[in-house]
Order: sequence, then structure tokens, then C-alpha cells
Amino acid sequence: MSFRIRDTDLLGRSGTFSVGGRSVDTPAFLPVIHPVRQLVPGPELLAMGFGAAITNSYISLRNYGHGISERGGIHGVVNYDGILMTDSGGYQVLEYGSIDADPLTMAEYQVEMGSDIAVVLDRPTGISATRERALETVEWTLRAARDTLPVVERTRGRMAWAIPIQGGLHADLVERSAKESAALPYDVYSVGSPVELMNSYRFTDLARLLLTAKRNLPPERPVHLFGAGHPLTMALAVAFGADTFDSASYALFARELRYMTRCGVRNVGELEELPCSCSICSRRTPRELLEMPREEAVGLIARHNLYVLREELLDVRQALHEGRLWEYLMQKTTCHPSLYGVRSLMVEASGDFTEFTRLFKRRALLLFGHEDVHRPELMTAASRARRVSPRGKSITLLIVHSVDVQAAPSAGDDVYFVVPFLGLVPPGLSDVYPFSQNSKPDPTSIDRRVLEETARASADAVSGWGITSAKIVHNGSGWAAEMAGLLASRLTERGIPATVEVSHV
Ligand SMILES: [Zn+2]
Repeated sequence: MSFRIRDTDLLGRSGTFSVGGRSVDTPAFLPVIHPVRQLVPGPELLAMGFGAAITNSYISLRNYGHGISERGGIHGVVNYDGILMTDSGGYQVLEYGSIDADPLTMAEYQVEMGSDIAVVLDRPTGISATRERALETVEWTLRAARDTLPVVERTRGRMAWAIPIQGGLHADLVERSAKESAALPYDVYSVGSPVELMNSYRFTDLARLLLTAKRNLPPERPVHLFGAGHPLTMALAVAFGADTFDSASYALFARELRYMTRCGVRNVGELEELPCSCSICSRRTPRELLEMPREEAVGLIARHNLYVLREELLDVRQALHEGRLWEYLMQKTTCHPSLYGVRSLMVEASGDFTEFTRLFKRRALLLFGHEDVHRPELMTAASRARRVSPRGKSITLLIVHSVDVQAAPSAGDDVYFVVPFLGLVPPGLSDVYPFSQNSKPDPTSIDRRVLEETARASADAVSGWGITSAKIVHNGSGWAAEMAGLLASRLTERGIPATVEVSHV
């Protein structure tokens, strides 16, 4: 097993995951292949660009038993020549209460199946578990992982092994599960139980669960997120650190004639037209889908859903490559109100993002709302700006909408620009990325909270310098006067007397 990371952005990364002579580019979406009844044949999935998929070892054991190796292993049974991950049956525990298989039996069976990425039999926590019950699932899964280690060691190099992280919505237990799992010699960490969070659209909880796990896992190793293949959540899963994620949603939705779009899921019956240019939709109408035999329609919608997932995945990868995953995810949060809370979580996680987010990009930063004040790139730039401390004990702060690289040299000693979103900019750094390479709303359209948060951040930066007074200068326009007033208050609160002047020059 090898995992090579190419680009990083926020907590996301792109790379290549290789095992058993097969490779897949990450982030990767793994469609669920049912071991018995497949809606879309394996070769077609591969041809659509899904180089990895996931299937279920428990259902395979029930249906094929120990004769599976004579049928070409699981790759032969499902006719799929990509990387195959095999879920251990933990989800069946969640569905049916308990199953009659123990960790070693399921581990040995996954070896017998010829799995590429096997998963330790786990006890999924679920989202309604009490703390006591959640703790039990964490301990049970860790014990199962330790019991499975002899099989892991015996098969090392031939296949990869994933250890599920439990704890559900109990953050301290997720932390413990992740920390103890990180100490065990597993190849992949798989974050469990988000299916219920997905079904109830609790996307902020999903992101927080992933963030908590990620903070306690070694950054160089791959992370899988169970059940998160939805066009609304792919960007979120990648931004918060998932390298691979799986889902059966393309098929489950299709069976109910539910049609994926990049920004949500619709019933085919509600649609006037099919808003997609894939080979299926460009030649049919919703009415035709509804009038054809049900099974045929289900198969076509499943394929369309896969195309949508693929398109979303490719866009997320491109955004990651260009270092604009923040912008992409922000846009995505406007698809559904339940994604809105993710914005606050992004602000909260900005410190986590900073380490892996490149400051320099080929393109200007696009700045929209107050959350963008906390973009990791701006935090990195601000910490550089803070290092340019004044010579004297008093400073002049010029409120401007954009830094003026031409005017910067004549700004004088101990003069700084204060710019919405960017905060404090020393004139000497004016042409350093991203101080001049950004695009923001015109002055009259800037959200008041941008001004408030810029004022707070600028005052914090100044207060570290030990200065005794500040003069704030603005051009008299409404937004600049407001910004000057906010900045003066924030400075006064921090014990720095500030005066405000209007200068039309
Ligand atoms: Zn389509």
C-alpha cells in the first residue's frame, strides 16, 4: 500500500493511492457495488472513471460462503477490476442489531475474498447512542482491531487494512478512538457512522466529526469517510480531510426515481426537463423516464446520478489543485440551509487549515462575506504583516478599499493601510500576494460584519506592538468612516488612544 500526496488545500489533499498493483487518484468516490444485485455493472463503473469501489463482505459471506476464491474472488464475483474495499459488516450491526460473525472470521474472509482494502469488523456508534453505549462501541472496535492484528501483519504488502473510528457525536470519544487507532499499525482510517447524519442532513455535525477525527490522526495517512457520497457533501468531506468516501446513494435514490443535481436531489416527477447534458439526459425527457419500465428507468437514473457525482468530484479536485477549495465550499453552502452552519465551522477550523493551505496561487483570492476575513491565506499573510513592526510609538492607519502599490512608497514611516478583509497591510508588502491580488465587493456592497471583523483583527495585530497612540485617516466616504469608527473603538478597548481624521487627498 502506498499513498502519495501531491497538492494540499485546507485539510484536503490530492494524491495517488496504490495497493496490489492497482492505483486510484484521490480524492476518490467509491460507489457501493452490491455483491449480489448490481444496478450498474463493474466494467461500466470502471469505464466511467471510478477506479475504486466498495462492496460488503458480510453479504458476500452469506451468499457465496467459502467458495468465493474459486470464483475469482470478489473481483471476479462482481466483475470489477479496480481497487475493491470491503466493508466488514459493521453497518449490518447498525441495521439489524447484531450479526453472527466475529472480527477474526470477518478478517480471514476478507483475505479469502481478495479484498484490496479490508475493514476491521466494527461496532458503529450511530448518532443516537448514549455516551455509555458510544464508549462501548469505541472499546469494542479497538479490541477487534487488536485481535485482527495477526491477520494484518500476515497479509501486509498484499492488501491494505482500515480501522474504523467510532464515537459518533461524542467528540471526546471520537478523539480517543482516533488517538488509540493512530497508535496501531493500520494503513487507512475510516470514519464511521455518517450515513444517519447524511440522511438527516446534519452536515455540520458530519464535518465536525471528521474534523475531530482528523485532528487526532497522522496527517500522512489516508482517511476514508463512510457513506458520504452525496453531491452536497463531497466538497465538505474533502475540505475536512477525507481522501476517499463511498456511498450507495446513486442506486438507492434511483430506486425511488430521485435524480441528483450538483446542488441537491429532485424527484423525476417534479422535473419539466432533465437539467443535465450526460448521454442519458440529453436524449430523454422526464416523462419518457416515467413511462418506461421501472427497472429500465432506475438503471438510467443510477447512471445519471453517477455522472453527477463524478462531475462534482472532478470540480472539487480542480478547486483543490488551484487552492480555491475554500471558495468552492463556500459556494456549496448556499445549496441548502443545512449546509450554512459549515461556514462557521470553516472559520473555527481556519487554524487547522493554515498549515496545509498554500499562500501563493495563480489566481486572485475572491472575497465575498465576513467568513472570508478568516481565510487561511489571509491569516498567514496577516502574521507576516504583523512582523513589520513600527519604529516609533505612534502609527498612522490609512483606511483604503484596496492597497495602492504606486502610492505605497510615499506613505511614510510607521504608516499602514487597513483594508477590508485583509486587515493591516504594511506599504512595503503591498505587492506581496494576496494584498494586491484579490477581488472584493465594491465599497458600498461590503457587509458590515466584514468591517467589524477586519477592525477587530487589525486592532489585535497593532496591540502586540506596544505603541501608545494611533491616528486613523479615511477619505470621508460612508463605509470608510464606519470602518474608522469601529477601528478606533477596538483600539481604545485595547488601551491605545486613537484619533480619526478625514483627508480627501
Ligand atoms: Zn444526466
